[in-house]
Amino acid sequence: MYDYLIVGAGLFGSVFAHEAKKRHKTCLVIDKRPHLGGNVYCENVDGINVHKYGAHIFHTNDKAIWDYVNQFATFNNYVNSPLAISKGKLYNLPFNMNTFHALWNVKTPAEAKQIIDDQVKKYGYKNPKNLEEQALSLVGKDIYETLIKEYTEKQWGRKAVELPAFIIKRLPIRYTFDNNYFNDIYQGIPIGGYNKIVEGLLNGIDTLTNTNFLDHKEELSAKAKKIVFTGPIDAYFNYKYGALEYRSLRFEHEHLNETNFQGNAVVNYSDLEVPFTRIIEHKHFEFGKQNHTVITREYPEQWTHEKEAYYPINNKENQSRYQKYRDLAAHEPDVIFGGRLAEYKYYDMHQIIASALKKAEKEFHHTMSS
Ligand code: FAD
Ligand code: UDP
Repeated sequence: MYDYLIVGAGLFGSVFAHEAKKRHKTCLVIDKRPHLGGNVYCENVDGINVHKYGAHIFHTNDKAIWDYVNQFATFNNYVNSPLAISKGKLYNLPFNMNTFHALWNVKTPAEAKQIIDDQVKKYGYKNPKNLEEQALSLVGKDIYETLIKEYTEKQWGRKAVELPAFIIKRLPIRYTFDNNYFNDIYQGIPIGGYNKIVEGLLNGIDTLTNTNFLDHKEELSAKAKKIVFTGPIDAYFNYKYGALEYRSLRFEHEHLNETNFQGNAVVNYSDLEVPFTRIIEHKHFEFGKQNHTVITREYPEQWTHEKEAYYPINNKENQSRYQKYRDLAAHEPDVIFGGRLAEYKYYDMHQIIASALKKAEKEFHHTMSS
């Protein structure tokens, strides 16, 4: 009998298990996939760590979270600076002076600001209600039409006016020549890949892969006093109120006999007519010097139950359905729901770690005092 059965060996489940073990609790961590790590899993292909479920760049402003992950791996000084190709022209991301120079040939922040302010005044909204209105209100029409609209509609399979505004607020806008995609103080890639972190977190903990909790619910539940569930919350409740919607992705990996395919880890393809959103060249995350390379094209796809659920679609209908599942979850005292799928939230890695630490803190404080 274990203290906890942890469903999902992603970052949430792994951090929770690690914290439980520290408090001398026993855990069994299971995953339906053939490996541990969830979406941060990397596969080593002849010395190159391939991010199998999409590019993962660690970034945080929180020193405690940075110190936490640094217990398990050394991070390099990689700074994410993606490029975007729109109508055959190359732009820097996020939106910064290099982007403004390529768009309008401006050279000073004052010139760029004048253009953006004029466009925001003309096309922006006081209370943006959707992604399109939000983007026009932040960066104006030219940037929206060149670098956002088609990419976004391809990525999400929906019109930008049908998407929540918060999605676009992730992208910084700055009036400096700074191509750093993130504003956070700490950023990097774990040397040796993310598996090192997951292995460190799960060191000494029992694990089972290729095991779907929902296929053996009773038998597996009987193995532990409590469950930590990090899979989709609607699946846990057998879709009682209908399925929550997601966007899925198809990754097409290619191993090439050349040293440098695109000169950068991430290149976005803004145009709708290109069916993928980005190409990742993995070696550049770790400044690889191999004489070969691995690239991944990322194709957004309509989600169905057989596919991986990557991005929650947090529109009004899905949020109100999620709320109903949350209410059901509140009546399951022996199950802790957490992570990107169980909380139906567009969480980054640092936020998942913070959330797992918080849930663990609450759980162990509660169990110690009861
Ligand atoms: P997951 O990693 O999804 O783990 C959940 C696990 O539960 C999965 O392994 C799944 O197989 C398992 N599971 C589900 N149901 C069952 C079941 N019934 N039985 C058994 N097992 C089950 N974050 C960043 O900070 N930086 C980035 O650059 C970044 N890039 C991203 C790019 C993409 C394409 C995606 C999709 C995400 C990205 N993220 C990024 C977010 C990051 O992946 C997540 O924040 C984090 O991995 C979530 O961890 P998790 O444990 O909640 O979920
Ligand atoms: N986005 C865009 N153009 C780009 C990159 C991103 O319009 O070149 C928008 C898009 O709507 C995307 C959102 O910004 O879903 C967040 O992008 P990010 O790269 O942060 O998301 P990820 O897919 O890596 O989670």
